[in-house]
Amino acid sequence: MSNSNLYQRLASGFSNHFTKVAIETPDGRRWSYRDLDHETARLARFFHSLGLRKGERVAVQVEKSPEALLVYLACVRAGLIYLPLNTAYRSQEIAFFMSDAQPSVFIARPEAKREVEMLARRYNIAHLFDLGPHGTGSLLEQSRPLDTDYPAVPCAGDEIAALLYTSGTTGQPKGAMLSHDNLASNAATLQSAWGFTTADVLLHALPLFHAHGLFVASHCALLSGAKMLFLAGFEAPTVVKYLPRATVFMGVPTYYTRLLAEPALDRQSCAAMRLFISGSAPLREQTFVAFDERTGHRILERYGLTETLMNSSNPLQGERKVGTVGVALEGVAIRIAADTGRPLPRGEVGEIQVKGPNVFSGYWRRPERSAEDFTDDRWFRTGDLGKLDDEGYLTIVGRRKDLIITGGYNVYPKEIESHIDRLPGVLESAVIGLADADFGERVVAVVVKSAAASELSTRSLIDSLKQFVANYKVPKAVFFVDELPRNAMGKVQKNRLREQLGG
Ligand code: AMP
Repeated sequence: MSNSNLYQRLASGFSNHFTKVAIETPDGRRWSYRDLDHETARLARFFHSLGLRKGERVAVQVEKSPEALLVYLACVRAGLIYLPLNTAYRSQEIAFFMSDAQPSVFIARPEAKREVEMLARRYNIAHLFDLGPHGTGSLLEQSRPLDTDYPAVPCAGDEIAALLYTSGTTGQPKGAMLSHDNLASNAATLQSAWGFTTADVLLHALPLFHAHGLFVASHCALLSGAKMLFLAGFEAPTVVKYLPRATVFMGVPTYYTRLLAEPALDRQSCAAMRLFISGSAPLREQTFVAFDERTGHRILERYGLTETLMNSSNPLQGERKVGTVGVALEGVAIRIAADTGRPLPRGEVGEIQVKGPNVFSGYWRRPERSAEDFTDDRWFRTGDLGKLDDEGYLTIVGRRKDLIITGGYNVYPKEIESHIDRLPGVLESAVIGLADADFGERVVAVVVKSAAASELSTRSLIDSLKQFVANYKVPKAVFFVDELPRNAMGKVQKNRLREQLGG
């Protein structure tokens, strides 16, 4: 039987470009594809030497670095389950992940090791190591003497390679179990959809604790033998500085608005670029248009979730329709369904449901949630609301739980936000529903306006909206704020807005 281990599949072409640089950092550190092969072998061997068996979990909460990516690849190579954690998580949150996932190994930032030590003892975690951003710490120290060869542990395609707790903006996190097949099939699909080749240079600015930076970005590059310019995080001036040396960039929409605030971003700085990709949160039409005007690049927007990896993408060749997240990727099926589960015709709004080799098998130790989130015929219920046009392009209109029902009428926040965002002086907006004795919920807008827009008021905003949308959709109240609360992936945290405004 062939080995379906994801590492083996990602690394199948490594030997063709062993001497090529795979990863380079701004401070001049470099790893060739041979180094990647050797270093991940050494680390996999080290995990093996600890007596870890296939399927045990390795939790990692470290700053982004090339070494952190090597640890991920080594876990997969050793048949272990990789569990990345956001560096922003605090003790109480870490305690939850430890008790839920029961990892055998925890890899912490050097400065957090003492704090984690106590928790590790409480949750019987056998091995605790630290790893600093420049490869310092006990993990690499202790593994250094080991040999640099190690065969990828044989795995079946449906065995779990990674456990990613969904960032969600509400509720308790759930661990999405992603298999070797889920990850490998999505990587191959994206590599081909986005035309990655060994000539590409990916400017990698995304975090490694989320599917976007860990899988979508890194896998495309590794599978193609491309080079990654590896930044420790996103800073707009640094990204603009390195763009002339890159061909592809991936980011969340916030990255693009921040890049636009850099005067140095222009056609010249993007001359070597062939592709800008956006996802993880909605890209505003204004951002798309402004970016096109400034750089000559039409940002390619795609759509995915932790649970399904990537589902749809605007095309590399062909029309990139602004406001849509493109068409279903090769091998992925997307349908729109009513609450009853009945598939809806093109043009109608309903829940986006997905099926394909990319879709996860369920949540870690939560069979009841897994059952709720799949239909009887095994379509995954994304919780996103959307519609398909005649050409199969998908538009997301909001989250099912964001849907506002006011006086019995459905209001899709995205529709109202798009209108508000087009008004002069508006930088961005979020529309939410707050509890209302009369209407059940009332529509409320939270708006960030530009410093120059002093004349924009609740009255003028409401009057303008009345020209475009039915009265029941017009916000009953408007709050002006300096900025909208967002999580690490740039998603607006509507639950926080609802809490603050008493919904
Ligand atoms: P996560 O699991 O953190 O990747 O979040 C997945 C959610 O992000 C989806 O269910 C969508 O609500 C949202 N999302 C991802 N990509 C897009 C996009 N291009 N446009 C709008 N929402 C998106």
